[in-house]
Amino acid sequence: MTIDQKSTLVTEIDIEPEIVDAKSLADKFDFYCYFCDKKVKTDSTHNKICETLVKSNNFYCPFCIRNKFYTKKRWDILQLTFRGIIGYLYWKSYRAKIKKLYLCEIKDIVEAHAEMGLFNPAFNYDPDTYIWFIDFSAIGAAKRQVDVEEINKTIVNILTCFNLAESTTGTQSHKIFDKYKDAVDLFYSQRQRPDGKTLLVPTLSGCGGTLDTSFDYDKCRNFLPKNLNVR
Ligand SMILES: [Zn+2]
Repeated sequence: MTIDQKSTLVTEIDIEPEIVDAKSLADKFDFYCYFCDKKVKTDSTHNKICETLVKSNNFYCPFCIRNKFYTKKRWDILQLTFRGIIGYLYWKSYRAKIKKLYLCEIKDIVEAHAEMGLFNPAFNYDPDTYIWFIDFSAIGAAKRQVDVEEINKTIVNILTCFNLAESTTGTQSHKIFDKYKDAVDLFYSQRQRPDGKTLLVPTLSGCGGTLDTSFDYDKCRNFLPKNLNVR
């Protein structure tokens, strides 16, 4: 290759930088998804796409739009999360004087619980929020529906990923499972959400063992991946 050819190549890939004007910066804004409550950053271009698809005054995040949760379909979706447990592991088994877990172990557990749940096609998962979306249109007695027990079994399998007897000070798994099961039964039979709330977030409060009663279990309810920090 001659020097001339080289300089031609350089010229060809010389790209003009994109000029970002003040207007398009001002177009960026945050919103909370109407269905899953995820905080999302958007701009007018992406917002326009959402508006066109959704045709509603409510904002929906890309995950919920992709899964058509802006349609009637969402009435069959129970949202639940294991944040109450993930947050507990972080605060009480990692951020404790005597650590029971390393941070990477908690991350592995979170990964494992996602993998386990996704074996069941009625379960959908958003890793940004740790929220599970269970499609109850797949559950029932019709030919192409499966028994509600398949939901409960998957929840039990997910709970085993947390290995609570070891990773906490003796939580009784069946007690936390009962909190999920009661909400699953209610949603299955009446399409009613727990306490009228969109998201089911049970905590380990009252789940036995030698759990610290002075601990603020509620702070685990809002635990997000961004909170999983090294300390
Ligand atoms: Zn959403």
